[in-house]
Amino acid sequence: MPGFEWFGDEERKEVQDVLDTGVLFRYGFDQARKGHWKARTFEEELTKRLGSRYAHLCSSGTSALGIALAACGVGAGDEVIVPPFTFVASVEALLTAGAVPVFAEIDQTLCLDPQSVRAAITPRTRAVMPVHMCGAMARIDELKTICDEKKLLLIEDACQSLGASHAGKFAGTFGHAGCFSFDPVKTVTCGEGGAVITSDQEIYFQAQAYADHGHDHIGTDRGLEGHPFLGMNYRISEMNAAVGLAQLRKLNAILGTQRAHKQILKQALGQFPQVSFRVIPDEAGDSATFLSFFLEDEDQARRIARGLGSAGMDGCFYWYDNNWHYLRKWDHFKQIKSLASLPFHLRQACPDYSKVHLPQSDRIMSRTLSLQIKLSWTPEALQKRVEIIEKVMKEAK
Ligand SMILES: *Cc1c(COP(=O)(O)O)cnc(C)c1O
Repeated sequence: MPGFEWFGDEERKEVQDVLDTGVLFRYGFDQARKGHWKARTFEEELTKRLGSRYAHLCSSGTSALGIALAACGVGAGDEVIVPPFTFVASVEALLTAGAVPVFAEIDQTLCLDPQSVRAAITPRTRAVMPVHMCGAMARIDELKTICDEKKLLLIEDACQSLGASHAGKFAGTFGHAGCFSFDPVKTVTCGEGGAVITSDQEIYFQAQAYADHGHDHIGTDRGLEGHPFLGMNYRISEMNAAVGLAQLRKLNAILGTQRAHKQILKQALGQFPQVSFRVIPDEAGDSATFLSFFLEDEDQARRIARGLGSAGMDGCFYWYDNNWHYLRKWDHFKQIKSLASLPFHLRQACPDYSKVHLPQSDRIMSRTLSLQIKLSWTPEALQKRVEIIEKVMKEAK
């Protein structure tokens, strides 16, 4: 997962270019910047890497979600179907846009269950927002079929899955828009940053203008640019973009290393009959940031998580108890504890999130463990992990 593990001269060089010119702003200053366009270059390279027509780099993954929603025309009162296993940013972005999160179950892909999505559709549904969790993709073909059939927008939260693919097509390129995060714990990092990708010209135009106060970015004088609609400021600085540019160029090497490391741990765990693995619709497209697996029941999962932890295995996640990634522990969200009234509060009939019941997701999450895959492991460190897994699994039968 973390690009920050591979940090060095490449990042320093890109940042130094920016410091040498003193142009920290991504727009304008054509003379002074001496040909250095870090955000723009990042966008060009990202579109080439992922095969989308357009990309807009912005200040975070959360802002990428907000920009994508605005650019697709999702706003007050629109229902958007989301999974309960995500990072809380997905629902924050929806509430900020005025939209109403509607939860569907996850299945053994740890992502949205298409059948449950179908059942959650109402006349107010505008969009489905699958979250490609922990490095691998949702059942995107089935979700896209549902969206096409029901004329719903498909907005992918691919924040955790840069470089993952399904049948040779990259996460983020299936929907009307795809969102990425480049925060410090994602596959590549800008320090803070995010991106919206799309192949729709109108969505792209709206995204890049909305993210910069509605600037249409036409002409050569920023002060004279038109403002076709209101926007916000979700810009990224050239400093952050410079870091990300160097990181993005390492993506292939990052994916290769993650996949190799994951395979070794997967083999070790696969020897034990009480373990079954997360379903990944296209295994070859897994970006391999995590190895996620199921135990037979909650009690066994808790015991093994504890065992691995006390045997010195760091980066072992039991999401069912996690404060940030699973709805169960989001009491602030369940009560919609905002600092001020939200558009949500003005709705006539608001869903009561304290009563949301997702038994299938609970059954899956209570048995799920994920091991984070690191880039920096030496062969010895990896071997040590294999030994810990074998010891703990044998003892915990
Ligand atoms: C990290 C993340 C985000 C938000 O990204 P930030 O850059 O931290 O704002 C949104 N969704 C998911 C699934 C994430 O993992």
